[in-house]
Amino acid sequence: MRNYENYALGKWIKGDGEGIPLFNAINGEQIGTAGSKGLDFSDMMDYARKTGGPALRKMTFQERGLMLKKLALYLHSIKKKFYPISFLTGATKVDSWIDIEGGIGNLFTNASLRRQFPDLPYHVEGSAAPLSKNGTFIGHHIMVPKQGVAIHINAFNFPIWGMLEKIAVNLMAGVPAIVKPATITSYLTEVMVREIIDSGILPEGSIQLICGSARGILDDVTSEDIVTFTGSASTGQILKSHPKLIEEAVPFNMEADSLNCSVLGEDAIPGTAEFDLFIKEVQREMTVKAGQKCTAVRRIIVPEKLVEDVQIELGKRLSKTIIGDPTVEGVRMGSLAGKEQLTEVTEKVKQLEQSQDIVFGSLEKFKVVGADKNKGSFISPILFLNNDPFNKVDCHNIEAFGPVSTILPYKTIDEAIKLARMGKGSLVCSIITNDMKIAEEFVVGAASMHGRILVLNEACSKESTGHGSPMPLLTHGGPGRAGGGEEMGGIRGIKHYLQRTAIQGHPTTITNLTKQYQVGAEQNTEGPHTFRKHFEEIEIGDTVITDKHTVTLDDIENFAELSGDKFYAHMDENSLDGTIFTERVAHGYFIMSKAAGLFVDPPKGPVLLNYGIDECRFTKPVYPGMTVGVRFTAKEKISQEKRDEEDIAKGIVKFLVDVYDDEGETVMLATILTMIRKLDQS
Ligand code: NAP
Repeated sequence: MRNYENYALGKWIKGDGEGIPLFNAINGEQIGTAGSKGLDFSDMMDYARKTGGPALRKMTFQERGLMLKKLALYLHSIKKKFYPISFLTGATKVDSWIDIEGGIGNLFTNASLRRQFPDLPYHVEGSAAPLSKNGTFIGHHIMVPKQGVAIHINAFNFPIWGMLEKIAVNLMAGVPAIVKPATITSYLTEVMVREIIDSGILPEGSIQLICGSARGILDDVTSEDIVTFTGSASTGQILKSHPKLIEEAVPFNMEADSLNCSVLGEDAIPGTAEFDLFIKEVQREMTVKAGQKCTAVRRIIVPEKLVEDVQIELGKRLSKTIIGDPTVEGVRMGSLAGKEQLTEVTEKVKQLEQSQDIVFGSLEKFKVVGADKNKGSFISPILFLNNDPFNKVDCHNIEAFGPVSTILPYKTIDEAIKLARMGKGSLVCSIITNDMKIAEEFVVGAASMHGRILVLNEACSKESTGHGSPMPLLTHGGPGRAGGGEEMGGIRGIKHYLQRTAIQGHPTTITNLTKQYQVGAEQNTEGPHTFRKHFEEIEIGDTVITDKHTVTLDDIENFAELSGDKFYAHMDENSLDGTIFTERVAHGYFIMSKAAGLFVDPPKGPVLLNYGIDECRFTKPVYPGMTVGVRFTAKEKISQEKRDEEDIAKGIVKFLVDVYDDEGETVMLATILTMIRKLDQS
């Protein structure tokens, strides 16, 4: 027996009083208690705002990303510690892998996103907006970390993944967190948070933990805080309407229950690879984590004529599900997370039974291996058939958060779409078909009610991540009943913790704020050519004004010969009627190439290579006789990490290539990317 503790104000604190008993889901024995009595949530928030927040905000995105990567590597190295504790929640090895290693994987993925942010504590979003005729006044957007705290209220089903998925993004953004796992499985979260704290990788104050109840935590939120909630719709609705959230305009991201569906395409008849894939996928989604997954398939939408085949095949597969103690060899499905869950799911099954028939499984009759069926929180997979899904609608409304699913027949793809939409907003649905027309019709018709849609066929099946895996780089959230959130997943997840602010001013001012050169800002033309400077020596705005070149007809002829591009507008002066050209026009790529000829300083130096062009626009035709020159300006610098000891220390410098003509007007604008050696090779 252990008292699972809270981590608050920089120390581990046991709640006052006896705490809430916590149980082993397999044998029903008490394993400890968790309590939060005596914790002052307001003090915890203040501590996060004053300690963790400032420390994280000092770091750049690159530093925060590397910190997350280090944490992910550390947790990965000790991952074995978490499995035995995960088994106590009723999870099998596969379920635990999703929770533990899936969660750590999420940290890795989010850490990699650092490359898509500047090497600054704040983000610069998009490009400048021209706001004036003469270019002396422009606008831009920056996104700065909010100076509040992220409060994560999580569901019981993924005690590790649920936490890591959420803290990864707030830490990347530079915002501290208070994590409140569901009490019933908080003992697993507690063990991981201890490891995180002991590792010393995160700055103090960037994570705090509440293991017991957190009733009242929203009473003290302020306008810069962010609340995320994962759990049941009923709790979510209560919390979402908390007066303090409304008063302080605090963003509340809700991920609630979701009656996800999987649809079998008409083409996927028995004997096709797609039919088999469908059966496999549905069976997996019903039984992984004993169906306690927000993405689990609750509604199985099947062409009317294939209902019997699906029922038989699915029944066959489900009958192979060995239920029992996850540590026993051969067990495929563990238990629900606790007795409360068992009571709730049983109740929901009974409600569903009022309007539809069980065609596989039973609440009473099933075998359990390696454990006492009556002591643990075991349940059998239960498959319903609803022959009248447009009128008997309980299956579209009642979520039994366990291995429970209903087969629903459809006649036309239109009906399948209607049925999918009757879930009133889901996290995910899948359609298994090899018919592109069916896939297109279904996706377009169903998408507005879904956060994610998987189209599965044989061609992608080997590498498919499956119906049930929310991918860290893709939206995780769904409309309507699923909570209405889509802020989780990838860059949009990180941006949820940043405040977007429009900034306006002179290009020089905006250059200084964004650390990106803006057209019209001051340029520094003094000093050596930028190709003679190392990464650290280059300043944004450093500019080379090149020699000039007068374009000739020979240039055009030669470039046409060399490249093979003999487009009529370059080659035939009699073909120009009805075009915008008045003479044979120089190739845009010739102008780009000639620009390189003008701005490159050839001798070997710190520039290692040119690796591409970000944008390139030909803004005015160049005819023979016109003279062009280049303003070559350092626009943005991105430091790179060394891959290994042997690697050259270097960074990327983006240069603005502004090619102008005799009248000083720009004829071509491009951003090129160069890799430049650092002075400091350590
Ligand atoms: P729940 O009972 O709604 O609880 C969710 C969380 O809210 C728990 O941490 C709970 O803490 C906390 N909570 C409840 N009342 C609170 C209050 N007044 N103030 C502060 N915190 C409060 O949900 P659950 O039973 O844990 O999870 C199952 C549900 O989650 C299912 O419906 C499932 O569909 C949904 N879910 C959705 C997703 C998704 O991504 N959309 C993911 C997973 C699960 P205590 O444990 O201390 O009560």
